[in-house]
Parts: sequence; C-alpha cells; structure tokens
Amino acid sequence: MSLELSHEQFMRYSRHLLMGDIGEAGQQKLSEARVLIVGLGGLGCPVALYLAAAGVGHLSLCDPDVVELSNLQRQILYRQTDCDEYKVKCAERELRALNPHINVSSYKTEITDELIGSQDIVVDCTDNLAARQLMNSACHKHKLGFVSASALGWEGQLVAFDFAAHGSLCLNCIIDRDSPEPMQNCSNSGVVGPVLGAMGSLQATTVIRMLLGYFQQHGEMQRYDGKAGRWLALAASAKQGCVVCGEAD
Ligand SMILES: [Zn+2]
Repeated sequence: MSLELSHEQFMRYSRHLLMGDIGEAGQQKLSEARVLIVGLGGLGCPVALYLAAAGVGHLSLCDPDVVELSNLQRQILYRQTDCDEYKVKCAERELRALNPHINVSSYKTEITDELIGSQDIVVDCTDNLAARQLMNSACHKHKLGFVSASALGWEGQLVAFDFAAHGSLCLNCIIDRDSPEPMQNCSNSGVVGPVLGAMGSLQATTVIRMLLGYFQQHGEMQRYDGKAGRWLALAASAKQGCVVCGEAD
C-alpha cells in the first residue's frame, strides 16, 4: 500500500520527501499515525502545530479549559478574540486551516483510558502529576509511546518512553505516583513562553522520531535551562517493584 500523494501534498511535504531517512515511506507512516495530545496549553500548542504541519494523519486533542487572556503570553495557537472559547475548538479550527489533509478530533473532557487505548503515541502537555501518572499507566498497559514534558520559570524537562519496545522503566520509576503535586506551577510561579516552545518542539520531534523508528532513548530525561542556555541528558533506571512496570519482563 503506498501513499498516493497529490501534487498539492507532494509540494506540501517536499522537505520531508527530499530526506532519504523520511521520504515517501516515512510520510506514509506519519499519515497513518494516531497521536493524542493531552493539554492544549504552552506545550500542546507547538506540539499540535508541528504535528499537523508534518502530516500526522490522526490527531486527537484533549483539554477541558477555555482560552484566557493570561494564556496568550505563551499559547501560540490562540488569538485575543478566542478568549472564553474552548481551547480544543480553537485549536481544531487552526489545525484544519493549516492542513486540511489530516483528521482532527477534539475532546472537551479529562482524559480517559478508552481514548488513550486507541492511539499510537500519547503526548503529555499537562501541568498535572495525577494526569501524567494516569497516562503513564495506560500507555504502559496498551504498549504505546508516551512523550511527557513540563516547564516552569526558565526550565523545562522531557522524558519519553517506547512501551511498544520496552516493558520496564516508566515515569513512575522516576516520579513516584504517591508524590504530592508540586507546590510551584506556571499559574503561581510563572514561565518563559519560548521555553515551553522549545520543549514542545522537542516533544513533536520525539513523536516524529518514534513514528519513523528512530527513537532509542527510552526513559532518558532531557533538561533545558533556558537562562543558562544549556541542555542536559540524564539516564534513569527501572525501580524495583514499580507498581506500573514492575511485573513486566
Ligand atoms: Zn515503572
């Protein structure tokens, strides 16, 4: 089965098609992929824009919130006229306008196990530890990709898991699910908009890399210090008796 590219699609994706390690075969993989973006805030906006532009064929957007004026400093999908509208509806409209060849579904709800189970990759763009742990458990159970990031102040971090290829080492091995929610968050401590952009771009790159079969860093943590202008990579190891992945081989 080959992707029948129209002239318009050939032009649209030409910068992928020029690359030997993407090409038409890679573009077809992207067009068949199902990716769920949870949280359409400062991380979710660049993730959604880049994945839609790249031609990821089935995007699901999940966020119960409406656009607020204080979001516009960093949430680049929205305009001032979008205030009080549901984020997923505004995002869906913009993504369809950007790329009419992809399918976009939106959910004005909290995330569910059923929604996660029908995906290839789940992208965590929330600022909520409980939701993050739920996604980790469900992605492990359904053997999906899981790409999680967060940012606060000048700093961001990203960790990704390929549960289709690895049964052990998960987010719960690194951050125990019984940990309290962090005291500091973007709402009470602030964040630099483009730091979220950097981390969201890295999440989108990681999704594309995973879909094309180039992802190797299961469980490795990437940290970015935007004030110092430095990146750091930290290896992690599986926690013995982890309640999520401990039974796996
Ligand atoms: Zn674990």
